[in-house]
Amino acid sequence: MNDFAFHTPSSLKEAAELLAQYDGDARVMSGGTALMLLLKQSLVNPDHIISLHRVPEARSIEVSDGVLHIGGLVTQREMELSPVVREATPLLANAYSRVATVRIRNAATVGGGLAQADPAMDPPSSLLVLNASVKVTSASGERIIPIADWYSDYYETTINEDEIVTELLVPVQPTDMAWTYIKYLPRTEDDYATVSVAALGKAENGKISEVRVGLGAVSSTALRASDLEAALLGADASFDVLKDASQAVADIVDPTSDPRGSADYKRDMSVVFARRALQQVLNVEG
Ligand SMILES: Cc1cc2nc3c(=O)[nH]c(=O)nc-3n(C[C@H](O)[C@H](O)[C@H](O)COP(=O)(O)OP(=O)(O)OC[C@H]3O[C@@H](n4cnc5c(N)ncnc54)[C@H](O)[C@@H]3O)c2cc1C
Repeated sequence: MNDFAFHTPSSLKEAAELLAQYDGDARVMSGGTALMLLLKQSLVNPDHIISLHRVPEARSIEVSDGVLHIGGLVTQREMELSPVVREATPLLANAYSRVATVRIRNAATVGGGLAQADPAMDPPSSLLVLNASVKVTSASGERIIPIADWYSDYYETTINEDEIVTELLVPVQPTDMAWTYIKYLPRTEDDYATVSVAALGKAENGKISEVRVGLGAVSSTALRASDLEAALLGADASFDVLKDASQAVADIVDPTSDPRGSADYKRDMSVVFARRALQQVLNVEG
C-alpha cells in the first residue's frame, strides 16, 4: 500500500472542496469495506484519502412526496432495519439485508456501495426495478442521475472524479404489486450471488398487468429485462407463458466464469431464477 494523506473533513462542503483541490488524486472513503481492500492490493494508489466519517450530513432516511430519500452515509444495516425503509420499499430493505454479513453491513454505506458498483452486489437489481436515482454533489453543485444511467461497466459508474454520492432517491414501492428478491448462492450464506433477481408484478383476471425484472451478477452491470417485461404485458399469468418468456433472459445476460459458476451455468440459472421470481410475484404455481 502506498503512503497517503488522510483527511477528515467535518462537512460535505469541505469534503467536496478537498476532492476538487486534489483533482483526481484523491479517493473518498465511507465505510472503507471495499476501499481498504483496493488500497491493500494497490489496485488504487491515491495520494489523498478523504474520509467522510466526521461528516454529519447525508445520514437521514425520510419519505417526502412519495419518494424515499436516503443519505449516502446511511449504513447498509440501517437500510435493512429502518422501519421507514421497510414500509416504503420492502424490496430494497430485503436486498440490503442479504449483503454479506452483519459486520460488513454495519460499516458499509449506501453511497460507498453505489460508487463501488460491483455487478454481483445485492442492491442494484432492486434499485433498477424501483426506478431509483442517485444524487451526487461536488464543489460546483449537485446533479441527479437515474439509476438506469448510473452503472456503466464492471466497477464503473457515470460519477465524475470530483463528485460524492450524497443521496439515494427511491419512489415508494407500489403496494398493489407483489415483490421478491432471490439471491442464488450455492456456496455460503454470506457470499456474493451466483445469480440474483429482483421482481415486482401484478396480475388481474389472470392477465399480467404490470411486471418488472432486474438481474444481478450476470453481466458487467445489473440489468433490467425490459424486453421480457414488454413481452409479458397482457399475457396469461400461467406457468407455460412464464417458462417460455423467461428464455429471453439468456440473450441479454453476459456472465463470466468464476468460482461461483461457469458462464454457461450462470446463463442457465438466470433463466431459471427469472422464471421463479415471476412465478412468485404473479402467484403462479409450477
Ligand atoms: C467480505 C465482503 C463481502 C461482501 N459481500 C457482499 C455481498 O454479498 N453483497 C453485496 O452487495 N456486497 C458485498 N460486499 C460489498 C460491499 O457491499 C461493499 O464493500 C460496500 O458496499 C462498500 O461500501 P463502503 O461504504 O464500505 O465503501 P468504501 O469502501 O468506503 O468505498 C468503496 C468505493 O466507493 C468510493 N466511495 C465511497 N463512498 C463514496 C461516496 N459517498 N461518493 C463517491 N464515492 C464513494 C470509494 O472511493 C471506493 O472507490 C462485500 C464486501 C466485502 C468486503
